[in-house]
Amino acid sequence: MKKIAIIGLGLIGSSIAHAARRGHLANQIAGYDASADVLERARAIGFCDTLHADIADAVKDAELVILCAPVGAYKSIAQSIAPHLAQGAILSDVGSVKSAVIRDVGPSVPAGVHFIPAHPIAGTEFSGPESGFASLFDGRWAILTPVPGSDQRAVDRLKDFWLGLGSQVDVMDSVHHDLVLAITSHLPHLIAYNIVGTAHDLEKVTEGEVIKYSASGFRDFTRIAASDPTMWRDVFLNNRDAVLEVLGRFNEDLSQLQRAVRNGDGQVLFDWFTRTRAIRRAIIDIGQDTAAPNFGRLPFQLYVAPEPEKKKKRGKASKKSGKKAAAAKKKKKTNKPARRARR
Ligand code: NAP
Repeated sequence: MKKIAIIGLGLIGSSIAHAARRGHLANQIAGYDASADVLERARAIGFCDTLHADIADAVKDAELVILCAPVGAYKSIAQSIAPHLAQGAILSDVGSVKSAVIRDVGPSVPAGVHFIPAHPIAGTEFSGPESGFASLFDGRWAILTPVPGSDQRAVDRLKDFWLGLGSQVDVMDSVHHDLVLAITSHLPHLIAYNIVGTAHDLEKVTEGEVIKYSASGFRDFTRIAASDPTMWRDVFLNNRDAVLEVLGRFNEDLSQLQRAVRNGDGQVLFDWFTRTRAIRRAIIDIGQDTAAPNFGRLPFQLYVAPEPEKKKKRGKASKKSGKKAAAAKKKKKTNKPARRARR
């Protein structure tokens, strides 16, 4: 493509720019963000060819415009870019909900512009322009949810774009997308936000103990619960019906487990856990996660605090030679914790 425009330069927007550049998918990658600070940081990293403080300049003559801001901002963004979109352009997005995006953006789309919503099932708990990377979409699914009557050639062009970013691509109806994602993504986030909040509130366990004795299961929840509050607030506000439906089912199933625990019904628990273990295996078998222990994370390196400096005795005997002092300094440095890769 000659020009693509990315609106919102956080984790997903910057990753699209990195991956589009890696795949040589556009001659010009134009970027816009509502925040001057984000624009400045994006400029320093350099993943866009042009950065614009005016959204009209960013989308002008673009063949593909992708909204990558939180979904709560889509309606006003769509209204402000509509008069500046080129005839024949594709307007798409990456929002984690799809029916609400069609509701909010659809009415502003001018005739002659192809509106094709999309959602990459890829992400991390990090946000901002520094968190993006080119391989984020590799092997992950991107779901397109074209509205009825969409131009098939435009759908195919967008499909090719996502394939070029490294994704696998599926097409489905927006309502079905929202139900599927409610159970596979939105509910797990709600549960994580809840469990970490509950642990934090527990009166008989201090906050210090929650942090100090966090077991791996709880730590995994804290990773999810560290996800961006604005983005996830908007997801729950905009996928209310589907989330409430799966939450109802979840509560019923939780009651069943609660009863099994209360009644000491080991068979129910064993059968349940056996079934869920098979689901984990199936996810690994289709290549959507690693079989390595602890998600293949690097071994945890315990931080060892440096010993407090002892008072040095005066005089020749207590002074270390230059070489010895340098060696001691080097040893001290290696006690620093390694930065752990989290993706
Ligand atoms: P992010 O890292 O917080 O980036 C969003 C960016 O959009 C921020 O730089 C934000 O600026 C900017 N922004 C806010 N309002 C804007 C506006 N009106 N116009 C232009 N830019 C605006 O969030 P993200 O994780 O990339 O998520 C972006 C979208 O991707 C969301 O719709 C989300 O549902 C979807 N998504 C996320 C994931 C994930 O795992 N994170 C996965 C798939 C899809 P400020 O920070 O200054 O507000």
